[in-house]
Formats: sequence, structure tokens, C-alpha cells
Amino acid sequence: MVAKNVAFCRGRIEAAAKNVGRMPSDIALVVVTKSVSLPLIREALDAGCAHIGESKLQEALLKYGVLSAYARDKGLRLVWHMVGHLQSNKVKDAVRIFDMIHSVDSVRLARQIDKEALELGKIQDILLEVKTSPETTKSGFCPEDVCGAVKEMAALKNISVKGLMTIAPPVDKAEKARPYFSMLRKLRDEIDQSPVLFPLPILSMGMTDDYEIAVEEGSTIVRIGRGIFGERL
Ligand SMILES: *Cc1c(COP(=O)(O)O)cnc(C)c1O
Repeated sequence: MVAKNVAFCRGRIEAAAKNVGRMPSDIALVVVTKSVSLPLIREALDAGCAHIGESKLQEALLKYGVLSAYARDKGLRLVWHMVGHLQSNKVKDAVRIFDMIHSVDSVRLARQIDKEALELGKIQDILLEVKTSPETTKSGFCPEDVCGAVKEMAALKNISVKGLMTIAPPVDKAEKARPYFSMLRKLRDEIDQSPVLFPLPILSMGMTDDYEIAVEEGSTIVRIGRGIFGERL
């Protein structure tokens, strides 16, 4: 079942990319494994998924060792994505296991990540989470604050800001999520035009209900949970 869902999602990502003249290979599929059992996650790895997304650090720590070992035996190197809100007291462990932290929502958190990354001798890739809609109660930067935050973070040598992430509000039709995704892309384009900054190639946007629209709007990472594993218990 999982393999079939993975193939189905990949097919739809590919079709959405082709609709707008994009290369399907420019879009990474992160399988979001929160509250999903190990056997089901192994099925996703068997289907070739290497990008794992978790939203709770405690849960990720429980799965990290066993899944990394399973993947290694198959010659697969997993890429771990933290997609949920990160609390300050969990930063050290997060920096230890995650390749990419999608949910950086303050300069203060970026500083803490930078400090822990320095201690571990790592450059931590991060994305800045942006609140593209007032109705989501989720954390994130207000769009008007993102450029300034990116500038401040440029001074932090052990983090690398790779792009932006957003969660669209729940809508009854996927099409209605489009303005939030295009807003994120435009914001990224504006920041990229500012000559003092480094480029932000990554846009992490699109979930089970809206990933095709997100791909049409320029997403480079879609984060899919239910569309692959079914409804969460
Ligand atoms: C749970 C979650 C997802 C996946 O959501 P689905 O609707 O199951 O695809 C993606 N991104 C974040 C930040 C999440 O918390």
C-alpha cells in the first residue's frame, strides 16, 4: 500500500511539474512519518524514499538509529528533516540528527542552532518558516520580517539559510492554497534580488491536500504524510 501511494504521489508531482515546465527531479519528496509505525516507514524506505520528516524531536530520536541502520543496509543514506516547532531545550539533539531544520521561526532560535552546530563542528542547514496566512496559529516569521532576519543570520557561521517554508491554512479546495504558495515564492524572489544576501534556492511547501498546487508555484520540497501512510491515528 505504501509503495503504491509513493508511486501515486511521485506521479502527481511529476505531472504538476510538467504542467508548468519544471523538472520533476527538482522537487524532493519528504515523507512525514510522525505517529507512523516503523514497519510502515520501512515500506517507504523500500520504495526508495530517503527524505524523512518528523515534527517531534522525542519521536525522531526513537526512530533515528533503527531507521538509519535499516537504510544503511540497503545502501540508502537517509536525509532527516525537522518540520515541527523546535523548542530551545531540544536544539542540541535536533542539530545532532537533522540534516535540515525547516521550522526556524526566530533569530534567537537560529543563534541557538548556530551555537550547538559550532560545538558539533557542523554547518546546519535551515529554512525560515513564514506565516503566509493570519488564520494559521502556527509559528513563523511575518513576511515583512523575513528579509531582516536573513540578514542578521548571515553573521552566523555555523548555520546556512537555504530557503523558506510555509504551511498553508486548511482550505476546502487545494486551489485556494495557491495564493499562500505564490506569496512565499515572491518573498523568496525579492530576498534573492537583494545583492548583499546569498541565494535561497529551497521552498518547502505543499502537504497531502495541496502539494500539486505548491509544485506549480515553485515548491522544491513537498512534505507528505497522510497521502503516503493514510490517516494518522
Ligand atoms: C504533519 C505535517 C506534514 C504532513 O501533513 P499531511 O497532511 O499528513 O501530508 C507536513 N508538514 C508539517 C509541518 C507537518 O506538521
